[in-house]
Amino acid sequence: MKDAPRVVSLQLLEGESREHLTPFGAMTQSPWVGSDLSAIPATSAFGLLARLVRLNVLAPRDLFANFGLRLRRADDLSEVMTFSRARQAALAKALGLAEIPHEWNLSNWFPFRTHAELLRDPWSFRYCPVCLATGFHTLLHQLPWFHQCPWHGCALRTQCPQCHAPTATQADWVVDANLRCRICGHDMLVTERAIAATSLAPKGARAFLETYLAWVAEQRAEALLLVPDAPSGSHAALADLVGMQKTGVVSRWNRNVAKVESLQAHQVEVLDELESFRRLDVLHQERPGFLQVPNLMRRAIAKVACNLALKLPPHTLTDREMRLFLAGLGIEVPKGFQPAHREYSGSVSMLPPTSVAGQQYLNLTCLHPSTYRAAIRLVDVAINNSLAMGYHGQVSPNEAHLVLQACRAILCRGYAEGLRSVLSRHVPELYGMSRDRPHLSQPWVIVILENSDLSAVRVVWRPIARVNSGEADVLDQADAANRRRQRAAARGRTRKRP
Ligand SMILES: [Zn+2]
Ligand SMILES: [Zn+2]
Repeated sequence: MKDAPRVVSLQLLEGESREHLTPFGAMTQSPWVGSDLSAIPATSAFGLLARLVRLNVLAPRDLFANFGLRLRRADDLSEVMTFSRARQAALAKALGLAEIPHEWNLSNWFPFRTHAELLRDPWSFRYCPVCLATGFHTLLHQLPWFHQCPWHGCALRTQCPQCHAPTATQADWVVDANLRCRICGHDMLVTERAIAATSLAPKGARAFLETYLAWVAEQRAEALLLVPDAPSGSHAALADLVGMQKTGVVSRWNRNVAKVESLQAHQVEVLDELESFRRLDVLHQERPGFLQVPNLMRRAIAKVACNLALKLPPHTLTDREMRLFLAGLGIEVPKGFQPAHREYSGSVSMLPPTSVAGQQYLNLTCLHPSTYRAAIRLVDVAINNSLAMGYHGQVSPNEAHLVLQACRAILCRGYAEGLRSVLSRHVPELYGMSRDRPHLSQPWVIVILENSDLSAVRVVWRPIARVNSGEADVLDQADAANRRRQRAAARGRTRKRP
C-alpha cells in the first residue's frame, strides 16, 4: 500500500500571473499516476478516481487508506462521488487540491437553478466509450440533454457496449479490472490507452467544456426551475427543458406591448390582477376544494368544459348535464343532441365550473395537485422576487400579466386533462377518442428573472407516472394524500396553540 499523499496547497507567489493556470484546477505535486487534471479537463470526481484506481492498481480497501473514502462494497462509486460533497472534499484534500473542483458539482452543469438530485432517481453511470477507454469521464456525459459525446459523436451509454449488461461501478472491483465488464470481460477503461492519453484531452474538449460551462453559468443567473412535488420522468423533462432553452423557442414577454396601453385601461387591469392573485391564494391550502376563478380566466376555463362536451359521442351526458357543461359560455344545447339513457349524475354535474351569484367556481378535485401547485408557486416567485427587489411585494403590471397568463394556461391544461380522466368513469368511450383519451401530465416550469424582472415563463408537460391504476384513480389518490396533509396540518396547528 502506498503512503498517504502529502497535502499540497496551491499558492501563487506575489506578482505571479494567474493566466497560465487552467480553470480546471492545477496539480503541482501528487504521487499518483494519472492525477494531472490539466490532461483531463472538467473530469468528474468518479472519472478521476476510476483512472487513479486503474493506473495505480488500487484495491477497494485502498480507497480509505489513500483518499479517506469509507464505502461499502455495494455502494455505487459513481453515484457517491457525484452527490457526496464530503467524499469529494476528502478526495480533493488527498490529491492536494486547494478546493473541490467546480466541475465536480453536478448543479454547475445545469442551465437553471435547481437540485441536481433530480438526476439521482434513477442514477446510472453514463459515459462515452471512446473517452472512457482513455480514462476520461466528465459530468457532461451524465446530462440527459446530451445524447452523444460532443467530440466523438458516439452515443452515450449506460451499459456494456458488447453484451449490454449494466455497467458495474460498485466499490467492489477486482484489482486492475475496474470498469471491466463482469459478464463478457470487455474493458471499458484500457490501461495502455489511459497511459498514452495522460497528456492529451479529446480534441476540442477543453474549448467546448469552457464554452458550455460559461453558457450554463450565464443561464443559471436568470433561470429558476420549479420542480413538481412528486416529479416523475425527471430525465426526460430536463432534456426537453434544456432543448427549449438551446433552440430559443421562448415566448418572451414583449414589454413594448404594455407601453402603448392607455393609463386608464392599465389601472383597471392592475386592479383585476391584484384580485386574481388574491383568489389564487386558496391554492396554498393542502386541499383547496374550490377556486373562485379569477375573471381573467373564466372564459378559458368555461371553454374547456364546453369543448369537451361538444366532442363527446351521443348518449354519454344527460340533457341536464349537457346544459351545465355549456352554461359557462352561455351556449344552448345543440339541436339533435342525443342524451344518455341513465339517471342524472351528481358527480358528473360537479365537473363543469359552477356559477353562484355571478361568480364561477372550479372544483379542484378534478385537477391533479401538481398543476395548481405549479400555478401558485409561480405567483409566489413573482411576489418574492418583488419583495427581494424592495418593491414590497408589488408585482409590476407586466409581470402580473405574464404570471396570470401562464397560470391560466397551466390551470386550463390541468383541468382539461383532469376532466377527461374523471369523466372516463362515466364515459368509457373517452378511451376510444385518440386526442382526447384520458391522460395526466405535470408541468415543469422555468422562470426567467432578467434584471430583477420576471420576463419569461416556459412550461414543459411530462406524463405522471402511474402503476396499474387508471387516471381517475390517480386523481383519487392525490385527493386522499391532500386529505392526509390537511389533517396533519390541522394537528400541527392544534399543537402549536398554547
Ligand atoms: Zn467521447
Ligand atoms: Zn459486457
